[in-house]
Amino acid sequence: MDIKITQTNNPKAKPNEDDNLLFGTIFTDHMFIMDYDIDKGWHDARVIPYQPLSLDPATMVFHYGQEMFEGLKAYKTKDGRTLLFRPNKNAQRTNKTNKRLCIPEIEEEVFIDAIKTVIKQDEDWIPTKPGTSLYVRPFIIATDPFLGVRPSRTYKFMIILSPVGAYYPEGLNPVKIWVEDEYVRAVRGGLGEAKAGANYVASLKSQVEAKKEGYSQVLWLDGIERKYIEEVGAMNIFFKIGGKVITPALVGSILPGVTRDSVLTLCKEWNIPVEERKISIKEIYQEYLNGTLEEVFGTGTAAVISPVGELRWGDHIMNINNGEIGQLSHKLYDVITGIQLGEIEDKYNWTNEVK
Ligand SMILES: *Cc1c(COP(=O)(O)O)cnc(C)c1O
Repeated sequence: MDIKITQTNNPKAKPNEDDNLLFGTIFTDHMFIMDYDIDKGWHDARVIPYQPLSLDPATMVFHYGQEMFEGLKAYKTKDGRTLLFRPNKNAQRTNKTNKRLCIPEIEEEVFIDAIKTVIKQDEDWIPTKPGTSLYVRPFIIATDPFLGVRPSRTYKFMIILSPVGAYYPEGLNPVKIWVEDEYVRAVRGGLGEAKAGANYVASLKSQVEAKKEGYSQVLWLDGIERKYIEEVGAMNIFFKIGGKVITPALVGSILPGVTRDSVLTLCKEWNIPVEERKISIKEIYQEYLNGTLEEVFGTGTAAVISPVGELRWGDHIMNINNGEIGQLSHKLYDVITGIQLGEIEDKYNWTNEVK
């Protein structure tokens, strides 16, 4: 693909890596942008200085939410290479999301080439301290200036980059999670398995209420019976029960995480029995009472593995592993981040170098 590059004349001051770079607050000097229309398809791929957009107030994305996004990270290795982690999975998921949201698909190669080109441009923004990375945010918006309800005929695909600090500056810190049994995030047949901004707006109310109670994240139950566990905010969820690893099956309302898939692959390699199935919150509580709920952890690009120290379900408070990180959670974190940083053998060809 031909990507035209226009460099900035006003490079910004780079942040000091010793300040803890707060997630999603700092952006690099450049961005990627590409347009879509029905005659030309995706066209005019370019890297330009990071800048605001100018859009007509009638632009469709503002009114009906036809928008998708992705999230992945680039890591700097000790020997100075830049590695992406399984970007092909994000490309494939983009197209699944796009199909659901009536957004035109983007070829996998084009998607990855765009990411690599803009990262290459801002490579010296990638932080190098342990645990830091460059967060990559591809996203697409509907741009027809039109108030009728139908899929847009024009779109913009953009990629912005944000240096991020260590998710756990003081070591892996277990989080407290609120089990939501009133509001729902998604139902089968809806948008739950698409990476759409719309899923997040549906989640805000519950998140605000959980925060007030001192919980940092929400665990969602299925939208119909409010019995079966789905996922956490922006993470998939895993339980270790009596030596087995269990995670909800991808039933249509759950986002298929790249980290989730990586965890399943590693557990299978390590001969740990894994089950992808329906699992109810009641079953979890029963296992907790039995003393067989050994570990609970979330998985997602931002934190990689997020140990859960407490689950609150109505009046029941489940204190997991004494609020400490479990052995398996710890090992998964070490191995996945080790592969991401090129420090552990990459048997599955998960890393992809930006050259
Ligand atoms: C992005 C996301 C995840 C995690 O997916 P990864 O590919 O592992 O980062 C989980 N749940 C939701 C709702 C998400 O948007």
